[in-house]
Amino acid sequence: MKTVQGIRIKTANEVDILRKAGKILSSIVAQLQSSLTSGMSTRDIDQKAEELIRRHHVVSAFKGYRGFPGFTCISVNEGVVHGIPGPRIIKGGDIVSLDMGIIYEGYYSDTAVTIPVGNVSPETRRLLDVTSDSLLRGIEQARPGNKLSDISFAVQSFVEMHGFSVVRDFVGHGIGKQLHEEPEIPNYGRPGEGPLLREGMVFAIEPMVNMGTHRTRILNDGWTVVTEDGKPSAHFEHTVAITSNGPEILTK
Ligand code: MG
Repeated sequence: MKTVQGIRIKTANEVDILRKAGKILSSIVAQLQSSLTSGMSTRDIDQKAEELIRRHHVVSAFKGYRGFPGFTCISVNEGVVHGIPGPRIIKGGDIVSLDMGIIYEGYYSDTAVTIPVGNVSPETRRLLDVTSDSLLRGIEQARPGNKLSDISFAVQSFVEMHGFSVVRDFVGHGIGKQLHEEPEIPNYGRPGEGPLLREGMVFAIEPMVNMGTHRTRILNDGWTVVTEDGKPSAHFEHTVAITSNGPEILTK
């Protein structure tokens, strides 16, 4: 296995396995997304995720990870990331961030989406659109010859141009045989810094964007991250392979 600047370079065969993993994961998340309605608890969503994981013969990357109790991280409204599935009932007007990872043939895939339930406020709708677009802006920079922080800068500048803030306390990451590999991928920073990007790197790029302050705090459960000011937060994530032609989204 080749490592450049601490970052594992995947072979074409490994990228192919990661591509299959991404396909399975995105299909599971699409099914979860279409079944999500108000009146469900976050535990109901997690049970559905468990069923789908079993049906696709893959393994959850999150269940038991450092003791995490769920198959998915479900973060509602002011929840940023790492929400534990439980009795909370989803209502119309909520936004639900669904983060999920699987292991397929020894390789990890990771994706997240924030889903509006029923009618959400126009400002919340805009938060989701800006966050999702900022992910695409970041991904666009994931190409050979660029520097790592070109991704970070693209995300941050787009988000801040729209008056929102990027979370600093949590970052994206390399992914492959491990859920979290080098490098860390912040969603903020100046362009042109950090490792040179090259073909065979695979990254989980995941902007977490807050409507108000970028500051967060962790609830007493030791996991759930919420915004410090209680305002909404959105999270979108894709696992992306850097190819000679540029970025390839594996969890599309
Ligand atoms: Mg991730």
